[in-house]
Amino acid sequence: MSEKLKPCPFCGGTKICTEKGINLNYCDNCSAESNVERWNTRPIEDDLRKRIAELEAEIDQLAAHYATERQDDKSPNDTQTQTIVYGKEREE
Ligand SMILES: [Zn+2]
Repeated sequence: MSEKLKPCPFCGGTKICTEKGINLNYCDNCSAESNVERWNTRPIEDDLRKRIAELEAEIDQLAAHYATERQDDKSPNDTQTQTIVYGKEREE
């Protein structure tokens, strides 16, 4: 069970040292530390990633919807072929 250690959640540092004797991982850059089992646990990060994925999916849907609407706008415009001027008959 040698799972790859995630970067430091505080500074993004990737040099994570493990002190097996005291069950501790620590960041060599900023000294953040956590017990070995918890180091890779990132509930907030995971929530944010999940939310970002949801929002990106919504953006894709909106973009697709907008693209089809724009196509619809273009097609029916050539149905108007003549301009009718009202009020012309009265002047004659
Ligand atoms: Zn760090």
